[in-house]
Amino acid sequence: MRAAWLLILLTPLSAQQYDLVIRNGRVIDPQSGLDAIRQLGISAGKIQAVSAAPLEGRAAIDATGLVVAPGFIDLHSHGQDAENYRAKAMDGVTTALELEVGVADVDAFYDKRQSQTLINYGASIGHIPVRMRVMHDPGAFLPTGDAAHRAATDAEIAECRRQIEQGLARGAIGVGMGLHYTPGASRGEVLEMFRAAAHAGAACFVHLRAAGDQSVAALEEVIAASALTGAPVHVAHITSNGLRSTPRLLEMIAAARARKLDITTELYPYTAAMTAIDSALFDAGWQGILGIGYHDLQWAETGERLTAESFARYRRIGGGVILHMIPPSALDAAIASPFVMIASDGGLRNGKGHPRSSGTFARVLGHYVRETGALSLMDAIRKMSLMPAERLEERVPAMRDKGRIREGADADLTLFDPATVSDAATYEDPARYSIGIRYVLVNGALVVSGGKLRQITPGQPIRASGAGWYPAGRL
Ligand SMILES: [Zn+2]
Repeated sequence: MRAAWLLILLTPLSAQQYDLVIRNGRVIDPQSGLDAIRQLGISAGKIQAVSAAPLEGRAAIDATGLVVAPGFIDLHSHGQDAENYRAKAMDGVTTALELEVGVADVDAFYDKRQSQTLINYGASIGHIPVRMRVMHDPGAFLPTGDAAHRAATDAEIAECRRQIEQGLARGAIGVGMGLHYTPGASRGEVLEMFRAAAHAGAACFVHLRAAGDQSVAALEEVIAASALTGAPVHVAHITSNGLRSTPRLLEMIAAARARKLDITTELYPYTAAMTAIDSALFDAGWQGILGIGYHDLQWAETGERLTAESFARYRRIGGGVILHMIPPSALDAAIASPFVMIASDGGLRNGKGHPRSSGTFARVLGHYVRETGALSLMDAIRKMSLMPAERLEERVPAMRDKGRIREGADADLTLFDPATVSDAATYEDPARYSIGIRYVLVNGALVVSGGKLRQITPGQPIRASGAGWYPAGRL
């Protein structure tokens, strides 16, 4: 007893005792290019030391044989509840953001999750839910009535813009838009929402108006809106809109970037999409636009393939449907592109949904890095951590401390076994957790330890400063 006391008293404060030390991991930091065995010292939720020499801590993880990466940041995560946060953590995700559809009430979104979440969370103010509220649409998540199909009056457009601006003033990360689900929204209306985003220094996170051959014109619409207003634009899931035109869309984005427009995009690493069967995506003519038929549709609840009869029946009820329609060549082209990030577009409900909800990030590491070699480990990690952080950091400066492994960065970290990491979720069992993600830290706390989930709530809000804050040079 006495000896132990003496030992503590004699340990000089300068011989740092960290809360936690991660020993002998292969630390990969896409910002500095570091890829080497290092020791990490973590205290007070931050990375305090990145060292080649041994460090001392009150607790330690032996990361021998594991890759230590910045925690993955999912820009497109519809699932914003405990079930989904668990699946995300087991897939290496430390921050999950609902940016494409977004929310109508920013304060309510953040208030409900305060001190309640396993991982970090955040949302955009969404044109879809705002339009649904303004136009009294009866739909649940996506519009099925006026907000989908009717042109808004000038007064309704002005009210949508006012609510978007209010959401931005309350710290929304950006402006979400899903133009394929709101075909009634005119180009003029879209421009108004881009203007609101531009004034707040926020980006627009957009699901394009159309798919397949029509996606070229749909991409031109948002490139033009970005050029006219100055709002950056992030194009959701380029492959599921582009389909066979994906290489053309990639060329267009590269050209726009060469002209100094701030345009980025993302993909989920699957050849099937998923959406609501009662949404406008299935308005008359969908087979021609998407290049698929009934048999390419799979009912998420049961796994059955659809027929004309079951399609009509389920469209009346509403629910999630999987669309087997993305050419593998579209995925191959997009994943190799330097400005394409990884984002899941996931959302489980009672264990049902699309496997991207649980498997996106491990699938990139297992399939596209280890099995096919389409990506280097460094590039894959960059697309899943640094690039999404950079996409957001102008409006949300706190993101400068995420997506990096350096002293002073947030201790959001994912430790995985590069030899075994892989997705396990399938179209029939989409909630199966990924394999090989051994430890996940969120703000310095272990939410996954030895491959097992822990029940703690270290997640923090990712939110812009809100009212009165504008980045320099944007007005
Ligand atoms: Zn979408």
